Amino acid sequence: MYDYLIVGAGYAGSVLAERLARDAGKKVLLVDRRPHIAGNAYDHPDAAGILVHKYGPHIFHTNSKEIFEYLSQFTAWRKFEHKVLAFVDGQLLPIPINLDTVNRLYGLKLDSAGLEKFFASVREHVDPIRTSEDVVLNAVGRDLYEKFFRGYTRKQWGLDPSELSSQVTARIPTRTNRDDRYFGDTYQSMPLHGFTRMFENMLDHENITLELGIDYRELKDSVPYREMIYTGPIDEFFDFRYGQLPYRSLEFRHETHDMAVFQPGPVVNYPDEKIEHTRVTEFKYLTGQKHTRTSIVYEYPRAEGDPYYPIPRPQNAELNAKYQALVNDTPGLYFVGRLASYKYYNMDQVVGQALTLYAKIMRQKRPRKGNRAKAALTF
Ligand code: FAD
Ligand code: UDP
Repeated sequence: MYDYLIVGAGYAGSVLAERLARDAGKKVLLVDRRPHIAGNAYDHPDAAGILVHKYGPHIFHTNSKEIFEYLSQFTAWRKFEHKVLAFVDGQLLPIPINLDTVNRLYGLKLDSAGLEKFFASVREHVDPIRTSEDVVLNAVGRDLYEKFFRGYTRKQWGLDPSELSSQVTARIPTRTNRDDRYFGDTYQSMPLHGFTRMFENMLDHENITLELGIDYRELKDSVPYREMIYTGPIDEFFDFRYGQLPYRSLEFRHETHDMAVFQPGPVVNYPDEKIEHTRVTEFKYLTGQKHTRTSIVYEYPRAEGDPYYPIPRPQNAELNAKYQALVNDTPGLYFVGRLASYKYYNMDQVVGQALTLYAKIMRQKRPRKGNRAKAALTF
Protein backbone atom coordinates (compact mmCIF):
# COMPACT_ATOMS: atom_id res chain seq x y z
CA MET A 1 0.00 0.00 0.00
CA TYR A 2 1.40 3.37 -1.04
CA ASP A 3 0.46 6.50 0.87
CA TYR A 4 0.78 8.57 -2.31
CA LEU A 5 0.62 7.95 -6.03
CA ILE A 6 2.41 10.90 -7.63
CA VAL A 7 1.95 11.45 -11.35
CA GLY A 8 4.89 13.20 -13.04
CA ALA A 9 8.57 13.23 -12.00
CA GLY A 10 9.24 16.88 -12.89
CA TYR A 11 9.79 19.55 -10.22
CA ALA A 12 6.26 19.39 -8.83
CA GLY A 13 6.13 15.61 -8.45
CA SER A 14 9.74 15.14 -7.38
CA VAL A 15 9.71 17.83 -4.67
CA LEU A 16 6.54 16.32 -3.19
CA ALA A 17 7.93 12.77 -3.43
CA GLU A 18 11.11 13.90 -1.65
CA ARG A 19 9.28 15.76 1.14
CA LEU A 20 6.65 13.09 1.73
CA ALA A 21 9.24 10.28 1.75
CA ARG A 22 12.13 11.89 3.59
CA ASP A 23 10.39 14.36 5.87
CA ALA A 24 7.08 12.62 6.58
CA GLY A 25 8.14 8.96 6.18
CA LYS A 26 5.39 8.25 3.64
CA LYS A 27 5.57 5.52 1.00
CA VAL A 28 5.44 7.07 -2.46
CA LEU A 29 4.97 5.66 -5.96
CA LEU A 30 6.25 8.21 -8.47
CA VAL A 31 5.20 7.58 -12.08
CA ASP A 32 6.15 9.31 -15.32
CA ARG A 33 5.14 8.38 -18.83
CA ARG A 34 8.45 9.67 -20.15
CA PRO A 35 11.42 7.30 -19.84
CA HIS A 36 13.27 9.74 -17.53
CA ILE A 37 12.94 11.93 -14.42
CA ALA A 38 13.25 15.76 -14.22
CA GLY A 39 10.30 16.59 -16.53
CA ASN A 40 11.02 19.43 -18.90
CA ALA A 41 14.24 20.24 -17.03
CA TYR A 42 15.79 16.90 -18.11
CA ASP A 43 19.39 17.14 -19.32
CA HIS A 44 21.71 14.43 -20.63
CA PRO A 45 25.02 14.01 -22.47
CA ASP A 46 24.38 13.86 -26.24
CA ALA A 47 26.23 11.63 -28.73
CA ALA A 48 29.26 13.95 -28.58
CA GLY A 49 29.28 13.87 -24.76
CA ILE A 50 28.02 17.44 -24.44
CA LEU A 51 25.44 18.07 -21.70
CA VAL A 52 22.25 19.31 -23.42
CA HIS A 53 18.70 20.14 -22.31
CA LYS A 54 16.33 17.90 -24.25
CA TYR A 55 13.37 20.27 -23.92
CA GLY A 56 15.08 23.60 -24.53
CA PRO A 57 17.24 25.89 -22.38
CA HIS A 58 16.60 25.81 -18.63
CA ILE A 59 18.28 28.44 -16.49
CA PHE A 60 17.67 28.49 -12.76
CA HIS A 61 16.90 31.84 -11.11
CA THR A 62 14.97 32.82 -8.00
CA ASN A 63 14.59 35.54 -5.41
CA SER A 64 13.64 32.99 -2.74
CA LYS A 65 16.31 32.01 -0.24
CA GLU A 66 14.08 29.16 0.96
CA ILE A 67 13.73 27.64 -2.52
CA PHE A 68 17.44 28.03 -3.29
CA GLU A 69 18.41 26.43 0.04
CA TYR A 70 15.93 23.61 -0.43
CA LEU A 71 17.45 22.66 -3.82
CA SER A 72 20.98 23.16 -2.48
CA GLN A 73 20.52 19.97 -0.44
CA PHE A 74 20.66 18.05 -3.72
CA THR A 75 23.24 19.92 -5.78
CA ALA A 76 26.25 22.21 -5.72
CA TRP A 77 25.91 25.21 -8.02
CA ARG A 78 27.79 27.03 -10.73
CA LYS A 79 27.11 30.77 -10.72
CA PHE A 80 25.64 31.74 -14.07
CA GLU A 81 24.12 35.05 -15.11
CA HIS A 82 22.18 34.46 -18.30
CA LYS A 83 22.59 36.82 -21.28
CA VAL A 84 20.55 36.98 -24.47
CA LEU A 85 21.19 38.76 -27.77
CA ALA A 86 18.45 39.56 -30.27
CA PHE A 87 19.11 39.56 -34.01
CA VAL A 88 17.52 42.84 -35.14
CA ASP A 89 18.24 44.89 -38.30
CA GLY A 90 21.34 42.81 -39.01
CA GLN A 91 22.86 43.35 -35.54
CA LEU A 92 23.08 41.25 -32.38
CA LEU A 93 21.74 43.52 -29.63
CA PRO A 94 21.17 42.98 -25.88
CA ILE A 95 17.66 41.99 -24.81
CA PRO A 96 16.16 43.09 -22.31
CA ILE A 97 16.35 46.44 -24.05
CA ASN A 98 18.98 48.59 -22.29
CA LEU A 99 21.19 51.63 -22.96
CA ASP A 100 23.48 49.73 -25.35
CA THR A 101 20.53 48.26 -27.26
CA VAL A 102 19.10 51.70 -28.08
CA ASN A 103 22.46 53.41 -28.73
CA ARG A 104 23.64 50.67 -31.10
CA LEU A 105 20.29 50.26 -32.88
CA TYR A 106 19.84 53.96 -33.62
CA GLY A 107 23.52 55.07 -33.65
CA LEU A 108 23.03 57.32 -30.58
CA LYS A 109 25.26 58.20 -27.64
CA LEU A 110 22.68 58.60 -24.90
CA ASP A 111 23.42 58.26 -21.21
CA SER A 112 20.83 56.81 -18.76
CA ALA A 113 19.10 60.18 -18.25
CA GLY A 114 19.03 60.68 -22.03
CA LEU A 115 17.51 57.21 -22.50
CA GLU A 116 14.78 57.97 -19.97
CA LYS A 117 13.90 61.08 -21.99
CA PHE A 118 14.04 59.03 -25.19
CA PHE A 119 11.61 56.43 -23.79
CA ALA A 120 9.32 59.25 -22.55
CA SER A 121 9.25 60.67 -26.10
CA VAL A 122 8.46 57.37 -27.86
CA ARG A 123 6.32 55.47 -25.36
CA GLU A 124 2.58 55.21 -25.96
CA HIS A 125 0.77 55.82 -22.72
CA VAL A 126 -1.66 52.91 -22.13
CA ASP A 127 -3.94 52.77 -19.10
CA PRO A 128 -5.02 50.28 -17.94
CA ILE A 129 -2.41 47.82 -19.17
CA ARG A 130 -4.23 44.64 -20.15
CA THR A 131 -2.35 42.94 -22.96
CA SER A 132 1.22 42.00 -23.83
CA GLU A 133 1.15 44.70 -26.51
CA ASP A 134 0.13 47.34 -23.94
CA VAL A 135 3.10 46.45 -21.69
CA VAL A 136 5.71 47.05 -24.36
CA LEU A 137 4.12 50.06 -26.10
CA ASN A 138 3.75 51.72 -22.72
CA ALA A 139 7.43 51.14 -21.89
CA VAL A 140 9.38 51.64 -25.14
CA GLY A 141 6.98 52.69 -27.93
CA ARG A 142 6.06 51.21 -31.28
CA ASP A 143 9.36 50.89 -33.15
CA LEU A 144 11.13 48.89 -30.44
CA TYR A 145 7.93 46.91 -29.88
CA GLU A 146 7.81 45.91 -33.53
CA LYS A 147 11.53 45.15 -33.79
CA PHE A 148 11.94 43.09 -30.60
CA PHE A 149 8.54 41.83 -29.44
CA ARG A 150 5.80 41.68 -32.04
CA GLY A 151 7.28 39.08 -34.40
CA TYR A 152 8.82 36.94 -31.66
CA THR A 153 5.54 36.81 -29.75
CA ARG A 154 3.45 36.07 -32.84
CA LYS A 155 5.75 33.17 -33.69
CA GLN A 156 6.06 31.83 -30.15
CA TRP A 157 2.37 31.90 -29.28
CA GLY A 158 0.61 31.89 -32.66
CA LEU A 159 -1.20 34.99 -31.38
CA ASP A 160 -0.66 38.70 -31.63
CA PRO A 161 0.66 40.32 -28.39
CA SER A 162 -2.65 42.24 -28.25
CA GLU A 163 -4.39 38.86 -27.71
CA LEU A 164 -2.18 37.73 -24.79
CA SER A 165 -2.37 38.74 -21.13
CA SER A 166 0.16 41.34 -19.99
CA GLN A 167 2.15 38.82 -17.91
CA VAL A 168 3.80 37.29 -21.00
CA THR A 169 5.89 40.24 -22.18
CA ALA A 170 5.99 41.68 -18.64
CA ARG A 171 8.53 38.91 -17.95
CA ILE A 172 11.06 41.00 -19.87
CA PRO A 173 12.09 44.24 -18.12
CA THR A 174 13.27 47.48 -19.76
CA ARG A 175 16.49 49.02 -18.45
CA THR A 176 18.04 52.46 -18.78
CA ASN A 177 21.51 51.28 -17.62
CA ARG A 178 23.95 48.84 -19.24
CA ASP A 179 22.88 45.77 -17.24
CA ASP A 180 22.60 43.04 -19.88
CA ARG A 181 21.55 40.14 -17.64
CA TYR A 182 18.33 38.40 -18.70
CA PHE A 183 17.17 37.97 -15.10
CA GLY A 184 17.44 40.31 -12.13
CA ASP A 185 17.02 37.64 -9.43
CA THR A 186 19.17 37.35 -6.30
CA TYR A 187 20.08 33.71 -7.02
CA GLN A 188 21.15 32.83 -10.56
CA SER A 189 22.94 29.50 -10.83
CA MET A 190 23.04 26.22 -12.69
CA PRO A 191 23.25 22.85 -10.90
CA LEU A 192 26.94 21.95 -11.12
CA HIS A 193 26.37 18.44 -12.51
CA GLY A 194 23.11 19.22 -14.31
CA PHE A 195 19.40 19.14 -13.50
CA THR A 196 18.97 15.38 -13.90
CA ARG A 197 21.70 14.66 -11.34
CA MET A 198 19.99 17.04 -8.92
CA PHE A 199 16.71 15.12 -9.39
CA GLU A 200 18.49 11.78 -8.93
CA ASN A 201 19.77 12.98 -5.56
CA MET A 202 16.33 14.28 -4.63
CA LEU A 203 14.65 10.95 -5.38
CA ASP A 204 17.31 8.69 -3.87
CA HIS A 205 15.24 7.41 -0.93
CA GLU A 206 14.02 3.97 0.14
CA ASN A 207 10.42 5.18 0.51
CA ILE A 208 10.27 6.28 -3.16
CA THR A 209 9.45 3.74 -5.87
CA LEU A 210 9.95 5.07 -9.36
CA GLU A 211 8.08 3.79 -12.43
CA LEU A 212 9.19 5.36 -15.70
CA GLY A 213 7.81 5.05 -19.23
CA ILE A 214 4.28 4.29 -18.06
CA ASP A 215 1.09 6.34 -17.98
CA TYR A 216 -0.46 6.42 -14.50
CA ARG A 217 -3.77 5.29 -16.00
CA GLU A 218 -2.21 1.91 -16.78
CA LEU A 219 -1.50 1.17 -13.12
CA LYS A 220 -3.86 3.27 -11.03
CA ASP A 221 -6.41 0.46 -10.70
CA SER A 222 -3.92 -2.29 -9.90
CA VAL A 223 -1.76 -0.45 -7.35
CA PRO A 224 -3.24 0.40 -3.94
CA TYR A 225 -2.68 3.97 -2.75
CA ARG A 226 -4.37 6.38 -0.36
CA GLU A 227 -4.05 9.78 -2.07
CA MET A 228 -2.99 11.10 -5.45
CA ILE A 229 -0.87 14.07 -6.49
CA TYR A 230 -1.18 14.87 -10.20
CA THR A 231 1.18 17.15 -12.15
CA GLY A 232 0.10 16.53 -15.78
CA PRO A 233 -2.29 18.60 -17.93
CA ILE A 234 -5.50 19.26 -16.00
CA ASP A 235 -7.88 19.01 -18.96
CA GLU A 236 -6.51 15.58 -19.89
CA PHE A 237 -7.09 14.30 -16.33
CA PHE A 238 -10.79 15.12 -16.65
CA ASP A 239 -11.04 13.65 -20.18
CA PHE A 240 -11.49 17.15 -21.63
CA ARG A 241 -14.93 17.40 -20.01
CA TYR A 242 -15.20 21.13 -20.67
CA GLY A 243 -13.13 21.06 -23.87
CA GLN A 244 -9.38 21.34 -24.49
CA LEU A 245 -7.25 23.94 -22.75
CA PRO A 246 -4.91 25.40 -25.37
CA TYR A 247 -1.19 24.71 -24.82
CA ARG A 248 1.63 25.91 -27.04
CA SER A 249 4.21 23.38 -28.18
CA LEU A 250 7.72 23.50 -29.57
CA GLU A 251 9.83 21.40 -31.88
CA PHE A 252 13.48 21.20 -30.88
CA ARG A 253 16.20 20.75 -33.50
CA HIS A 254 19.41 19.65 -31.79
CA GLU A 255 22.72 19.92 -33.69
CA THR A 256 26.39 19.37 -32.89
CA HIS A 257 29.02 21.40 -34.79
CA ASP A 258 32.72 20.78 -35.33
CA MET A 259 33.77 24.07 -33.82
CA ALA A 260 34.44 25.17 -30.23
CA VAL A 261 32.04 28.14 -30.34
CA PHE A 262 28.93 28.55 -32.52
CA GLN A 263 27.53 31.95 -31.51
CA PRO A 264 28.66 34.89 -29.32
CA GLY A 265 26.44 34.11 -26.32
CA PRO A 266 24.26 31.44 -24.67
CA VAL A 267 21.04 32.39 -26.46
CA VAL A 268 20.29 34.39 -29.61
CA ASN A 269 16.65 35.42 -30.14
CA TYR A 270 15.22 35.87 -33.63
CA PRO A 271 12.21 38.23 -33.49
CA ASP A 272 11.97 38.48 -37.30
CA GLU A 273 8.77 36.70 -38.39
CA LYS A 274 10.38 35.64 -41.67
CA ILE A 275 12.80 33.42 -39.70
CA GLU A 276 10.95 30.31 -38.54
CA HIS A 277 12.75 29.64 -35.25
CA THR A 278 12.49 31.86 -32.18
CA ARG A 279 15.86 31.24 -30.55
CA VAL A 280 19.11 29.29 -30.67
CA THR A 281 20.83 28.07 -27.50
CA GLU A 282 24.45 26.98 -27.20
CA PHE A 283 24.63 24.70 -24.18
CA LYS A 284 28.31 24.96 -23.23
CA TYR A 285 27.72 28.57 -22.10
CA LEU A 286 25.05 27.37 -19.65
CA THR A 287 26.96 24.42 -18.27
CA GLY A 288 30.56 25.69 -18.44
CA GLN A 289 31.58 22.41 -20.08
CA LYS A 290 34.86 22.40 -22.04
CA HIS A 291 34.71 20.48 -25.33
CA THR A 292 36.29 20.82 -28.77
CA ARG A 293 32.83 20.59 -30.39
CA THR A 294 29.61 22.40 -29.49
CA SER A 295 25.89 21.51 -29.33
CA ILE A 296 23.02 23.88 -30.00
CA VAL A 297 19.23 23.73 -30.18
CA TYR A 298 16.79 25.61 -32.40
CA GLU A 299 13.23 26.15 -31.15
CA TYR A 300 10.33 26.06 -33.61
CA PRO A 301 6.94 26.96 -32.09
CA ARG A 302 4.12 24.56 -32.90
CA ALA A 303 0.36 24.36 -32.33
CA GLU A 304 0.46 20.56 -31.96
CA GLY A 305 2.76 18.39 -29.86
CA ASP A 306 3.74 18.05 -26.19
CA PRO A 307 2.06 20.71 -24.05
CA TYR A 308 4.89 23.04 -23.02
CA TYR A 309 3.25 26.42 -22.42
CA PRO A 310 -0.16 27.27 -20.94
CA ILE A 311 -1.37 30.25 -22.99
CA PRO A 312 -2.15 33.22 -20.72
CA ARG A 313 -5.30 34.94 -21.96
CA PRO A 314 -8.62 35.64 -20.20
CA GLN A 315 -10.78 33.02 -21.96
CA ASN A 316 -8.23 30.28 -21.10
CA ALA A 317 -8.10 31.39 -17.46
CA GLU A 318 -11.90 31.09 -17.34
CA LEU A 319 -11.87 27.54 -18.71
CA ASN A 320 -9.05 26.61 -16.32
CA ALA A 321 -11.09 27.94 -13.36
CA LYS A 322 -13.86 25.47 -14.26
CA TYR A 323 -11.39 22.59 -14.22
CA GLN A 324 -9.73 23.75 -10.99
CA ALA A 325 -13.14 23.77 -9.30
CA LEU A 326 -13.40 20.01 -9.97
CA VAL A 327 -10.14 19.40 -8.09
CA ASN A 328 -11.13 21.53 -5.12
CA ASP A 329 -14.15 19.31 -4.61
CA THR A 330 -12.19 16.03 -4.45
CA PRO A 331 -10.65 14.95 -1.13
CA GLY A 332 -7.32 13.12 -1.35
CA LEU A 333 -6.57 14.55 -4.80
CA TYR A 334 -4.03 17.34 -5.24
CA PHE A 335 -3.00 19.18 -8.41
CA VAL A 336 0.32 21.00 -8.60
CA GLY A 337 2.80 22.23 -11.23
CA ARG A 338 2.77 24.17 -14.46
CA LEU A 339 0.42 21.94 -16.46
CA ALA A 340 -1.93 20.99 -13.62
CA SER A 341 -2.28 24.63 -12.51
CA TYR A 342 -2.29 25.88 -16.12
CA LYS A 343 0.05 28.69 -15.07
CA TYR A 344 3.14 30.01 -16.88
CA TYR A 345 5.43 29.09 -13.96
CA ASN A 346 9.22 29.06 -13.87
CA MET A 347 11.05 26.20 -12.15
CA ASP A 348 11.44 28.05 -8.84
CA GLN A 349 7.74 28.90 -8.76
CA VAL A 350 6.86 25.22 -9.17
CA VAL A 351 9.26 24.29 -6.35
CA GLY A 352 7.63 26.98 -4.18
CA GLN A 353 4.15 25.76 -5.07
CA ALA A 354 5.10 22.15 -4.25
CA LEU A 355 6.64 23.11 -0.88
CA THR A 356 3.49 25.08 -0.05
CA LEU A 357 1.30 22.11 -0.95
CA TYR A 358 3.46 19.85 1.21
CA ALA A 359 2.98 22.20 4.18
CA LYS A 360 -0.77 22.20 3.51
CA ILE A 361 -0.95 18.39 3.41
CA MET A 362 1.00 18.16 6.66
CA ARG A 363 -1.25 20.75 8.27
CA GLN A 364 -4.32 18.74 7.25
CA LYS A 365 -2.87 15.52 8.67
CA ARG A 366 -1.57 17.00 11.89
CA PRO A 367 -4.65 18.17 13.85
CA ARG A 368 -5.93 15.59 16.30
CA LYS A 369 -9.31 15.49 18.03
CA GLY A 370 -9.76 18.48 20.34
CA ASN A 371 -6.42 19.94 19.33
CA ARG A 372 -7.34 21.61 16.05
CA ALA A 373 -6.90 25.25 16.94
CA LYS A 374 -3.51 24.68 18.53
CA ALA A 375 -2.24 22.63 15.58
CA ALA A 376 -3.36 25.28 13.12
CA LEU A 377 -1.50 27.93 15.08
CA THR A 378 1.75 26.07 15.53
CA PHE A 379 2.40 25.44 11.77
P1 FAD B 1 6.84 19.06 -16.01
O1 FAD B 1 8.30 19.28 -15.96
O2 FAD B 1 6.12 19.21 -17.31
O3 FAD B 1 6.56 17.59 -15.43
C1 FAD B 1 5.31 16.96 -15.55
C2 FAD B 1 5.57 15.49 -15.81
O4 FAD B 1 4.33 14.79 -15.74
C3 FAD B 1 6.13 15.22 -17.20
O5 FAD B 1 7.42 14.63 -17.10
C4 FAD B 1 5.11 14.31 -17.86
O6 FAD B 1 5.68 13.29 -18.65
C5 FAD B 1 4.40 13.71 -16.65
N1 FAD B 1 3.02 13.27 -16.95
C6 FAD B 1 2.02 14.03 -17.46
N2 FAD B 1 0.92 13.27 -17.62
C7 FAD B 1 1.23 12.02 -17.19
C8 FAD B 1 0.52 10.79 -17.13
N3 FAD B 1 -0.76 10.69 -17.56
N4 FAD B 1 1.14 9.70 -16.63
C9 FAD B 1 2.43 9.77 -16.22
N5 FAD B 1 3.17 10.91 -16.29
C10 FAD B 1 2.58 12.01 -16.76
N6 FAD B 1 11.82 27.62 -16.11
C11 FAD B 1 12.82 28.33 -15.53
O7 FAD B 1 12.78 28.59 -14.32
N7 FAD B 1 13.91 28.75 -16.28
C12 FAD B 1 14.04 28.49 -17.60
O8 FAD B 1 15.02 28.88 -18.23
C13 FAD B 1 12.98 27.74 -18.23
N8 FAD B 1 13.05 27.48 -19.55
C14 FAD B 1 12.05 26.76 -20.15
C15 FAD B 1 12.15 26.48 -21.51
C16 FAD B 1 11.16 25.75 -22.13
C17 FAD B 1 11.28 25.46 -23.61
C18 FAD B 1 10.04 25.27 -21.39
C19 FAD B 1 8.96 24.48 -22.07
C20 FAD B 1 9.93 25.56 -20.04
C21 FAD B 1 10.93 26.30 -19.41
N9 FAD B 1 10.86 26.58 -18.04
C22 FAD B 1 11.88 27.32 -17.44
C23 FAD B 1 9.73 26.13 -17.21
C24 FAD B 1 10.00 24.80 -16.52
O9 FAD B 1 10.22 23.80 -17.50
C25 FAD B 1 8.78 24.43 -15.66
O10 FAD B 1 8.48 25.45 -14.74
C26 FAD B 1 8.97 23.14 -14.86
O11 FAD B 1 9.72 22.17 -15.54
C27 FAD B 1 7.60 22.62 -14.51
O12 FAD B 1 7.70 21.47 -13.72
P2 FAD B 1 6.40 20.56 -13.53
O13 FAD B 1 6.78 19.47 -12.61
O14 FAD B 1 5.24 21.39 -13.20
O15 FAD B 1 6.07 19.99 -14.99
N1 UDP C 1 9.73 38.08 -25.91
C1 UDP C 1 9.85 38.74 -27.11
N2 UDP C 1 11.10 38.96 -27.61
C2 UDP C 1 12.22 38.52 -27.00
C3 UDP C 1 12.10 37.84 -25.78
C4 UDP C 1 10.83 37.61 -25.27
O1 UDP C 1 8.86 39.13 -27.71
O2 UDP C 1 13.33 38.74 -27.53
C5 UDP C 1 8.37 37.85 -25.37
C6 UDP C 1 7.72 36.61 -26.01
O3 UDP C 1 6.33 36.79 -26.04
C7 UDP C 1 8.11 35.53 -25.04
C8 UDP C 1 7.92 36.26 -23.71
O4 UDP C 1 8.42 37.59 -23.98
O5 UDP C 1 7.29 34.40 -25.16
C9 UDP C 1 8.63 35.66 -22.53
O6 UDP C 1 10.00 35.46 -22.86
P1 UDP C 1 10.89 34.39 -22.09
O7 UDP C 1 12.27 34.47 -22.62
O8 UDP C 1 10.69 34.56 -20.64
O9 UDP C 1 10.19 33.03 -22.57
P2 UDP C 1 10.44 31.49 -22.18
O10 UDP C 1 11.89 31.35 -21.78
O11 UDP C 1 9.47 31.18 -21.10
O12 UDP C 1 10.13 30.77 -23.45
